[in-house]
Amino acid sequence: MPRLAIHGGAGGDGPWKGPTDLDPVRILCMESVLSTVGSMLESGICAEEAVTIAVEMLEDEPLFNAGKGSVIAANGSVTMDASIMRGRDSAVGSVVNIQKSRHPIRVAQKILQKGWPVMLNGKAADRFGLENGVEQVEQEWLITDLRQAQWQKWKDANSRPGSTDEDDSVILDHDGDQGMGTVGAVALDKEGNLAAATSTGGMTGKPDGRIGDTPIIGAGTWCDPSVAVSCTGVGEAYIRTCAAHEISTRMRLGQNLEKACNSMLEMVEPLGGRGGVIAIDSKGNIELPFQTMLMYRGSYRNGEIFTAIGP
Ligand code: ASP
Repeated sequence: MPRLAIHGGAGGDGPWKGPTDLDPVRILCMESVLSTVGSMLESGICAEEAVTIAVEMLEDEPLFNAGKGSVIAANGSVTMDASIMRGRDSAVGSVVNIQKSRHPIRVAQKILQKGWPVMLNGKAADRFGLENGVEQVEQEWLITDLRQAQWQKWKDANSRPGSTDEDDSVILDHDGDQGMGTVGAVALDKEGNLAAATSTGGMTGKPDGRIGDTPIIGAGTWCDPSVAVSCTGVGEAYIRTCAAHEISTRMRLGQNLEKACNSMLEMVEPLGGRGGVIAIDSKGNIELPFQTMLMYRGSYRNGEIFTAIGP
């Protein structure tokens, strides 16, 4: 009965050219998340804890854009967003522009468990994390050489005459060898309860204070008793369409999970929302569609693990 699906970001245009030198490490990490958290779900942990642990493990992998290895903003710092939602009672927790917590998703879960308020930002969110036992780290610890190089490339491109902030190839963390993005997890536990969680460093060179879809409930993350959803892609388009919640709406109107996910992506695309989504419904169906060149993704069902990158 338990199910788990995860993603490590979607991106790129054109045909997939096969795995990069760094991809085996990402696949290993996803396999480890799926086997560890899959077994935990079999032994009875709840969906909310399962998605938190899964995302924490992905945040710890420096090649994903969340926690350590988050992309770097225009001002040279790392600011992270995360959110979590529990289906059975619509409990949520969300953090924006957090800078010191090793695991932004754990801070979001502590907020969910406290119950009020549901969203905290910046220094106050880090302080709440500290007060609730979430490990604090320095910015230098979060920033990796890979992200530093990626940021430098963005900066050089941006200081060229005529460069614009709309040039996706440099502002997005969707640049083949340079590493992919945002991480997320959705789970169905033994009791039939669902949960969803998403965590990100956002986009390389993002302006000061920018908030993407990841911490916005209904945009990047959604969960109710029928479906759990975590999105990845150009966040602004997901915010403008309440994309994650849209899947639930479409299912209420009679679409199955597959149709609801695909039609949501079609709705987001014209607004510049290239990306993907992972979702699990209460019957145990899993969908992992994306419109980009690739999406790091995987699932656990009946003891079986699946991972993939390209089409
Ligand atoms: N959705 C994330 C954001 O806009 C980025 C991503 O998924 O890669 O912050």
